[in-house]
Amino acid sequence: THFGFQNVAESMKESKVRDVFNSVAKNYDTMNDVMSFGIHRIWKDQFVQQLNPGKKSIFSEPMTILDLAGGTGDIAFRMLDHARTVNGDPETKVKVVDINEEMLKEGVRRAHTLGYRTEGEDAPISFLVQNGETLEAIPDNSIDLLTIAFGIRNFTNKEKALSTAHRVLKKGGVFSCLEFSKVDNFVLDQIYRRYSFSVIPMMGQLIAGDRDSYQYLVESIIKFPSQKDFAGMIRDAGFQLAGKGWQDLTFGVAAIHTGVKL
Ligand code: SAM
Repeated sequence: THFGFQNVAESMKESKVRDVFNSVAKNYDTMNDVMSFGIHRIWKDQFVQQLNPGKKSIFSEPMTILDLAGGTGDIAFRMLDHARTVNGDPETKVKVVDINEEMLKEGVRRAHTLGYRTEGEDAPISFLVQNGETLEAIPDNSIDLLTIAFGIRNFTNKEKALSTAHRVLKKGGVFSCLEFSKVDNFVLDQIYRRYSFSVIPMMGQLIAGDRDSYQYLVESIIKFPSQKDFAGMIRDAGFQLAGKGWQDLTFGVAAIHTGVKL
């Protein structure tokens, strides 16, 4: 790249992506806090509050939520907490799906610490190893809400992942994606890029002893499509966009894209 680093992302295939997350699983939550100054928590809170998961009246059914690339469960735990505390609904269930078993194992540990059962038909939260591009174990038209946070940019075939999301959602089901995006201001963008390319790999080295994995994560952010292009991909997968299709967070450092299956 023009910042003088070797382009690690270029040489990454799907199995390598798995290795990256194997290597970061244990330190993943700490690194997120350090790298984003804790802002990822605010974005995740906002993401979940806007989706407002949980059944809304005594007449409605509890929701089935699939949190794709759900990793250690950050979004899923927020979903359950929101459904219970805001909508008084202890029945809504979340399936956390990820290609990486180590990330999910960390999620299972966190679930047990929080007092959630993870096994059995009526467990509020379950963890499933699956490639999100195909979701073979998930039937068509079976999910009410499919979320993906900071996951889709790591997928080898993003179009395939979007059409699979469309397949598994019920009619009227919602797809919502929280992801790093493009900063909409030249000066801020320059500062952000310099921070990303110099500070993040260095912190990866210091905190997790792994510079390359964190450099890969930075490169995958830079290579991800713009807000508008990604909204176009969601529409092409068959979704109806809500308005222009996205909402910027923190000047576009991250964005939430939403579509509905009609
Ligand atoms: N959603 C979590 C969060 O916000 O904290 C985890 C995000 S983490 C940056 C990205 C996750 O995407 C990793 O856990 C990784 O294993 C997963 N992932 C990458 N490619 C995947 C694929 N093809 N199918 C399912 N998960 C995938």
